Amino acid sequence: MAGKITLTMIKPEAVRNGNTGKILDKIIEGGFRIVAMKYLKLTRAQAEQFYFVHRERPFYKDLVEFMSSGPIVATILHKDNAIEAYRSFIGSTNPKEAAPGTIRALYGTNIQENAVHGSDSDENAIIEAAFFFSALERF
Ligand code: GDP
Repeated sequence: MAGKITLTMIKPEAVRNGNTGKILDKIIEGGFRIVAMKYLKLTRAQAEQFYFVHRERPFYKDLVEFMSSGPIVATILHKDNAIEAYRSFIGSTNPKEAAPGTIRALYGTNIQENAVHGSDSDENAIIEAAFFFSALERF
C-alpha cells in the first residue's frame, strides 16, 4: 500500500532567491499537510550522507557542494499516496522539462539547482524523514 509521507527540502538556491514562503504556500495549497519542519544548513558530511545513494553518479560532488552551500528547509509532508502525489506536484528533475505550474518549473534554476527535493519511494521517505526528525518533532 502506498505510504502517506514524503520528505522534501527547499534547496539552497530557492532559499537564497527568496522563494521559501511561496513554495511552502504552494505545498499547503496543494493539500499536503506539514508534519515536521526545520530550517538548517547541512554540513558537507551530512549532505554526503543524505545523497549516499548517488555516490557513483558524476554529479555527486557538485550536488554535495551545492546542498551544503546554504540553509535549506526540510519538511515531512503528509498526503494520501504522498510519494507519487508530491513528485508529480514538483515536476521533472530538470526544470526545463517540468510541467507548467509545478514547483520546479516555477522556481527551479537548472537540473541541479531545481528548487526542491522529493523522496522517490516509501522506503526512502522513512529513511530521509528519520535523517532530519525524531518522533518528538512530528505532529
Ligand atoms: P530527483 O529524484 O528528481 O531529485 O532526481 P535524482 O534522484 O535523479 O537526482 C538527485 C538530485 O541530483 C536532483 O534533484 C538534482 O539536484 C541533482 N541532479 C540530478 N541529475 C543531475 C545532473 O545530470 N547534473 C547535476 N549537476 N545534478 C543533477
